[in-house]
Amino acid sequence: MLTTVGLQQLFEPRSVAIVGASTKPGKVGHGILNNMLSSGYRGEVYPINPHAPDILGKKCYPSVLDIPGEVDLVVVVVPAPAVLPVIEECGRKGIKTAIVISAGFKEAGPEGIERERRLAELARQLGIRIVGPNCLGVMSTGNGLNATFAHGMPRRGNVSLMSQSGALATAIIDWSIQQGIGYSKFVSFGNGVDVGVVDLLRAWEDDPETTVIVAYMEGLRNGPEFMEVARQVSSKKPVIVVKSGGTQAGARAVSSHTGSLAGSEQAYNAAFLQTGVIRANSVEELFDLAIAFAYQGPPRGRNVAIVTNAGGPGIMATDAVERVQLRLAGLDQRTIQALRKRLPEASNFYNPVDVLGDADADRYAFAAENLLRDPNVDAVLGVLTPQAMTQPKETGEKLAFAAAQSRKPVLACFMGGDSMTEAIEILNEYKVPNYPYPERAVQSLAKMAQYREWREEPADEPAPVEANRDAVRGVFAAARAEDRVNLGEIEARQVLQAYGLTVPESYIAQTAEEAGAYAEKIGFPVVMKIVSPDILHKSDIGGVRVGIRERQEVMDAFELMMLRVRRFAPDAAIRGIFVQEMIQAGREVIIGSTRDPQFGPLVMFGLGGIYVEVLKDVSFRVAPFGERHARRMIEEIRSAPLLRGARGERSSDVDAIVRCLLTVSQMVTDFPEIVEMDINPLKVREPGAGAVAVDARITITER
Ligand code: ADP
Ligand code: MG
Repeated sequence: MLTTVGLQQLFEPRSVAIVGASTKPGKVGHGILNNMLSSGYRGEVYPINPHAPDILGKKCYPSVLDIPGEVDLVVVVVPAPAVLPVIEECGRKGIKTAIVISAGFKEAGPEGIERERRLAELARQLGIRIVGPNCLGVMSTGNGLNATFAHGMPRRGNVSLMSQSGALATAIIDWSIQQGIGYSKFVSFGNGVDVGVVDLLRAWEDDPETTVIVAYMEGLRNGPEFMEVARQVSSKKPVIVVKSGGTQAGARAVSSHTGSLAGSEQAYNAAFLQTGVIRANSVEELFDLAIAFAYQGPPRGRNVAIVTNAGGPGIMATDAVERVQLRLAGLDQRTIQALRKRLPEASNFYNPVDVLGDADADRYAFAAENLLRDPNVDAVLGVLTPQAMTQPKETGEKLAFAAAQSRKPVLACFMGGDSMTEAIEILNEYKVPNYPYPERAVQSLAKMAQYREWREEPADEPAPVEANRDAVRGVFAAARAEDRVNLGEIEARQVLQAYGLTVPESYIAQTAEEAGAYAEKIGFPVVMKIVSPDILHKSDIGGVRVGIRERQEVMDAFELMMLRVRRFAPDAAIRGIFVQEMIQAGREVIIGSTRDPQFGPLVMFGLGGIYVEVLKDVSFRVAPFGERHARRMIEEIRSAPLLRGARGERSSDVDAIVRCLLTVSQMVTDFPEIVEMDINPLKVREPGAGAVAVDARITITER
């Protein structure tokens, strides 16, 4: 963060200067002034233009320095090369907040990048908060502030929106005006030289006029800070985010499984999941969710009742409910009896309640009201299609009335064209969100339920893990002393042991004789593996043998392995051959970690073998996390039922996996120098019998 001054003057300025105000309609500098003068803003507006005496009836000043009174906010629309001098003048005038609309910065090549760097520096020196550059501007509907060049202003409401993209912002505004969505604050922050996502979250956290925060973002500057603030804000009001720009700039070469599977998408998903941020997958979904949250509260539970006047759409809605992990509510007997008394016999009295095609508004509303009263119902979805007897407008009114009487959320899906327009306007007016398809309504409801559940969960605090951290430091120092950053099995297992994880009993043999003796000490069967800091994938070159049953076999294997390795990896330094306890039975899982450029340590879980390699069936969390998220990581993968013992498989010690995940989470948090690590595989025994890390590797930073 550049400065810590608040953003109050951005949203509630008493006076606004527009530097670069233009006399020519069609110019951005004209559009902004026009918006400032025609949106109901009551403060002083000062156009700055050295060549015009007045614009749109307002007296012009040659520069901000010539304005007689104080200025709270300046909007800068001059060409890029003139921006810095203007900001300097703002500094002299004592202006603390600026919106730089002008383009020609970071987005415009090397010269622009340098200009943006200097703008950041200047703003910091002068203590000026800057929105932009290269943005659409700021609106605050509560006081009629419209410091943008958008056409029109959405109506007043309680959604506040931030957007990194200016072009998308104009589309959003157009669309919101058309849909009648009400906004409180709107900020397009463009390149985000200073004010960004985190500042705006902070600004809106306790803003009584903002009940829903919506963000379109392409990237973040500081992942951990975002997580901290987002978690805090989400616990007060919903934060809905659409994140685009999937490609990861300068993806570095990765050498571990985890590294190759963990992209920035996974990191963002994990971060959102852990902080209660609601992710929308498209701009369309962003608005579906925004109106759902703005108009209705989240449901208490996941039980949905559907009322419909047509069978087909009722079934569509039912299918959708199940797909998004909501439940079709089992209705209370009293509800069913009440419906039976009043609805025609051919109706369906069970959920989804079909009031039939000839239902008038009263019949439909009667059903909706009864469903809302049912203690087994957490939310109602009203589906309506235009049929001969349908009264869309009256039905909309009555459904809205029923919704207003109830604390449970009501969502509507009035399907059809012109015949439904009026009804949908009424629903909007009375804050019942309407969706053109049941899927979209249900999807929104599911995310509302999920958000409510997140809010009710206690924080997932990680319990401290005991470890011999000095031992770990020693291992890292020794590797670095040899100019190595890749730690193979021998060193990695020392690190795991220092954190209390179980590893198989092992000894390094230098001769076949020694190997034989160690094998007898361990007990058969044993595993033999090549030990070399230069060989990271041992089995690829014949460096692993499992299931060796007798001494002679051990000795033969020793000679053969040495021969093979010398042939396939002639330059590798060989430190000997590991003779290792064979961990029999047990499912193989992978636990790994990689460092995400935004969020830092990311921990991965998956089942070994094809599940990770072919199916990429893995889950992620940003470390550190607590037991709840560790369990969810395990439950989340598609192959999780195998661990629970589905389809005749033996069940596995899930608690041991949880402990290992928490240990890795702690380890990578304690040691930011761990760039990547894999425990591959962790062999998980039956419940209660624990898990053993039979192989691991760690990559550390050079210093
Ligand atoms: P690498 O991954 O370098 O090829 P590993 O040590 O992971 O070498 O060994 C390859 C495979 O051999 C493992 O995935 C596991 O299936 C099996 N394996 C290795 N060590 C043991 C052991 N101690 N007990 C049982 N199986 C083992
Ligand atoms: Mg391995």
